[in-house]
Amino acid sequence: MAGTAGRIMMSAHDFAAACVHESAHALVAVATGGRLTALTVTPVPTGSHAGHVEYSTPPGITLPENEIAYAGLFAESVFDSNGGRPAHRTLLAALAANPDDRTALLDHRGTVALPREIEPVLLDLMPSVLTVAATLATARQGRLPAPHRQVAAVLGMSPTSGPLIRGSLRNSGWALRGLEAG
Ligand SMILES: [Zn+2]
Repeated sequence: MAGTAGRIMMSAHDFAAACVHESAHALVAVATGGRLTALTVTPVPTGSHAGHVEYSTPPGITLPENEIAYAGLFAESVFDSNGGRPAHRTLLAALAANPDDRTALLDHRGTVALPREIEPVLLDLMPSVLTVAATLATARQGRLPAPHRQVAAVLGMSPTSGPLIRGSLRNSGWALRGLEAG
């Protein structure tokens, strides 16, 4: 976006990290039953969280909002660690830079609770995250034209195969606490 007053200061690395962060939110939202309605990344003059993910929740589904939030922080941290398991301080820096995600990770006592048990799954998901991030990074106007269909395709899902995939994710150890509690 060509600004005049607000000239874009975001580095190429920060832009790529933002694409990875948003793509990870989107992938986990879709994998756990959400309906993705927007996946965008927009360079902004200030702030590190330049992207935006929107999804709706189908009837009868409770999405694991904390896991969707953590996926973005964790994937961005893996990216910043050149693909390796990130150091704790890297995760904390991502947490501090993303107050909306931090809010989604507060437990009932108001303490940040990281769902670290999903990290092995998120590491397995990184190739898919990078595939979506690369698509997002080169998308016209920083916006995927058909976000749900595109992200579902990367996951190997048809746009209507949610219940089947949710069942297999549950069996493979995904923490779908919302569904089980519902
Ligand atoms: Zn985020």
